[in-house]
Amino acid sequence: MSTQALADLSGVTGQVIRPGDADYDRARTVFLGGVDRRPAVIVRVANNSDVSRVVALARDTGMPLAVRSGGHSGAAYSVVDDGIVLDLADMRALQIDAERRTASAETGLTAAEFTKAADADGLAVGFGDTGSVGIGGITLGGGVGYLVRKYGLTIDDLLAADIVTADGELHHVDAEAGPDLFWAIRGGGGNFGVATRFQYRLHPVGAIVGGMMMLPATADVITSFIALSEAAPEELSTIGNVMPAPPMPFVPAEHHGKLVIFAMLCYAGAVEAGERAIAPFRALATPIVDMVKPGRYPEMYPPDDESYHPLATSRTLFIDKVDRGVADLILEHLSASTAPMRVAQLRVLGGAMARVPVEATAFAHRRSRIMVNCAAICERPEEMAMHAPWVTGFAAAMRQSDAGAYVNFLAEEGPARVRAAYPGATWDRLAAIKRRYDPTNLFRLNQNIPPSDGRPER
Ligand SMILES: Cc1cc2nc3c(=O)[nH]c(=O)nc-3n(C[C@H](O)[C@H](O)[C@H](O)COP(=O)(O)OP(=O)(O)OC[C@H]3O[C@@H](n4cnc5c(N)ncnc54)[C@H](O)[C@@H]3O)c2cc1C
Repeated sequence: MSTQALADLSGVTGQVIRPGDADYDRARTVFLGGVDRRPAVIVRVANNSDVSRVVALARDTGMPLAVRSGGHSGAAYSVVDDGIVLDLADMRALQIDAERRTASAETGLTAAEFTKAADADGLAVGFGDTGSVGIGGITLGGGVGYLVRKYGLTIDDLLAADIVTADGELHHVDAEAGPDLFWAIRGGGGNFGVATRFQYRLHPVGAIVGGMMMLPATADVITSFIALSEAAPEELSTIGNVMPAPPMPFVPAEHHGKLVIFAMLCYAGAVEAGERAIAPFRALATPIVDMVKPGRYPEMYPPDDESYHPLATSRTLFIDKVDRGVADLILEHLSASTAPMRVAQLRVLGGAMARVPVEATAFAHRRSRIMVNCAAICERPEEMAMHAPWVTGFAAAMRQSDAGAYVNFLAEEGPARVRAAYPGATWDRLAAIKRRYDPTNLFRLNQNIPPSDGRPER
C-alpha cells in the first residue's frame, strides 16, 4: 500500500491489520475452507466514520474492497487478495426494547449472539440454521430459517437500516426515508453499501419444541417428511438433510454412512401443540436419533466449532414438489457419489414468507415451494474439481418449473445465476438503484448487480 493510503487509515479508531501483524492470519480466515487470500489491509472498523474512511480509501486507491460481517460467504467474497477487507466484527452493539419489541443491532453480531440476547426477553427474529452466520450477510440476502413459515424471512422483520454508500455518506433508511434503498437492501445483498446497523421487529418466541431427529431415508419417508412439513401448522419449520449418517457419538454405529434424513425441526409455539405437530414425524419410522424436545429458541443454535472450515461445493435451487420420483432421484444421486459427505437439503417454505407480495422486497421467490441445496463436502482441495460435476448434475436432475435461486446460497457461479436470484422487474429496479448509489460498482465483491446504463432492459 502507498504511504498516502496508509496515512489515510491513521485516523481510524478500529484495528488496522497488515501482513506480518500477529493477528493477520486469523483476521483473513473465512468460514469456507480452502480459501487462502492475502489482503493488503484488514480494517476492523469501530464506528460509522471508520466505515466512511475505508470506503473512501477503496474509492481513492481503486483497490478491491471486501465487506465482511460473519465471514460465511459461500463464494468467499469476504476476503480478497491485495485489497482491503472491511470487517464489521467489532461492531456488535445491541439494544433491545422489550416493550416495543424492537432491536437495534450493529451488523458485526452473529445470529447466535443476537438470538441469545433477545431471548432474555423471550423475543426473537428468525435468521438461519447456523449461529455463527453474521446478521449482516444473512439479512441483506433475505434470511431463511427456523421461523420462516411463522414469521417470514429475516428481511420481513427489518424496520430500518444505517448504511454507508459508495460516496461515504451515512443513510438511515426505512419505508419512508430512502424507500428505494431500503427496498434494495432487503434481498439485494452487499451491492448498495456497508450496512452498519439494523433495526428489527421482534416476536415473542420463548419456549419452542425443537431439535434434531434422524430418520431412515427411504423414498417413502422422504416424500412423507415433505408432505408433513407442507401440511404442518406454520409454527413448524423443518429442514430435512438427506445425507449419510455422520459417525457422531450419538448416532448408533450400525447407521454410520447409511442414508438418513438429518432433520432439524422447530415448532415456535405452545409446547403441547408442538408435541402434537411433531408426533407424525416420529411416526414416519422409528427415529434413529430423537433430540426434539421442549426448550428455548437459542438452543436451535448449539455452539459452533470455530476450527471447522469445510471444503464444500454446492448448488441451490427451488422445486415445486417432492414425490416418489424425486425422492428416488435424491437417493440415487446420493448413493452414486464418492464424496465423504454429500447432502440434499430440503426446506419447505410457504406460510408468512409467501404472504408478502413478491414486489415488496428484492427477494423475489416468495411463491417458491421448497428450497434445495445439493452439496458435496470434501477432505482435500484437489477433490473439489472431482465432486463439482456431481453437484451440478444432481441439481440439474432436480430442476422442475422454478428457475430461481436464493442469493445467499450461491457460490461463485457467474452472472446468469445472479440473474436467477433477481428475475425480471426485480433485476431492473436493483440495477437502477445501484446506478444511483454505486455508479462505479465500488461494491462488486458480491453476487454482483452492475449499475444499469440507464437504458431500459430488453
Ligand atoms: C454454514 C452455513 C449455514 C447457512 N445457513 C443459512 C440459513 O439457514 N439460511 C440462510 O438464509 N442463509 C444461510 N447461509 C447463507 C448465509 O446467509 C450467507 O452466506 C450470508 O451471506 C453470510 O453472512 P455473513 O455476514 O456471515 O458472511 P460474510 O461473508 O461476512 O458476508 C457475505 C457477503 O454479504 C455482504 N455483507 C455482509 N455484511 C455486510 C454488511 N454489513 N454491509 C454490506 N454488505 C455486507 C458482502 O457482500 C459479503 O461478501 C448459511 C451459510 C453457511 C456458511
